Amino acid sequence: MRATVMYGAGEVRVETVPDPGLLEPTDALVRVTRSAICGSDLWPYNQMEHTDTGRRMGHEFIGLVEDVGAEVSTMKAGDLVVTPFVWSDGTCVFCREGLHTSCLHGGRYGMDGVDGGQGEAVRVPQADGTLVVLPVGPDDELMPSLLTLSDVMATGHYAALSAKVGPGKTVAVVGDGAVGLCGVIAARRLGAERIIILGRHAGRTALAEEFGATDVVSERGDEAVERVHELTDGLGAHSVLECVGLEQSTITALEIARPGGAVGRVGVPQEDSIPLGVQIFFKNVTIGGGPAPARAYIEELLPDVLEGRIEPGRVFDRVASLDEVPDGYRAMNEREALKVLIDL
Ligand SMILES: [Zn+2]
Repeated sequence: MRATVMYGAGEVRVETVPDPGLLEPTDALVRVTRSAICGSDLWPYNQMEHTDTGRRMGHEFIGLVEDVGAEVSTMKAGDLVVTPFVWSDGTCVFCREGLHTSCLHGGRYGMDGVDGGQGEAVRVPQADGTLVVLPVGPDDELMPSLLTLSDVMATGHYAALSAKVGPGKTVAVVGDGAVGLCGVIAARRLGAERIIILGRHAGRTALAEEFGATDVVSERGDEAVERVHELTDGLGAHSVLECVGLEQSTITALEIARPGGAVGRVGVPQEDSIPLGVQIFFKNVTIGGGPAPARAYIEELLPDVLEGRIEPGRVFDRVASLDEVPDGYRAMNEREALKVLIDL
């Protein structure tokens, strides 16, 4: 089959790889129908050291089940399924606590002999614990929104939960990428009264406003902090969703949190330490977040997508074939595209 392989920064190729097949009785073989390029794929795209073996890419996909192992009971050949961005057994102590990203028997796509999602097929380990069957056909018009349940919508939701968003709260979302925009959707869905989006790309902040943002702050750094304080009577936001992961965006997020507030960090951090430790101690600010356990939220978010109450699929602004994936990386990296959907 054909799949996306990254060999180093800027080196993305679509090439022939071994066809996957069932290995374990808990596996499912899934023929991918839709996949996506993630903002987090851009970190290796910019920084990965060259390797001769390459790394299989992609962790967001929807596909048709082609075959299942003897122990798989919740799906059958022909079912359409969506995956969260990591696979997990659904039964260990962490999965039962809703933290599937720490599954004792789980793992990541594209690693340890498991296929990546940006390819024609994937052997999914722990299929019962991982995949969710979708009650629609593979070409349903809701495909883009359903695909966001793999990662960005679930991650935005987790950012909002980690930042303790609730009715009446003032929320600030740092970052106008796909996750930040989904964070706006999640904050509104959870009843936030005011949602401030911090971002500099006019088209993206306009979409954020359609998703429910009430204010746009396009300044950066100290000026952004000042602006948010102006908008919040000098108090800051109850809930801050950090959806970037850079040092500057993290500092901004921590500075605009009001005393007693909470920051949900879902941008993959590019720094080892958390800045402003003393300031946040004296502000009694809670810091939460991490890789979102998307699997814990798919069933909860699914009815809202199916019934059209949320439209996170609008974050996709480009569709690519598998062969066009390398150019999709380039386009996202150059901010020419917000998020690329791969139609297989
Ligand atoms: Zn588990």
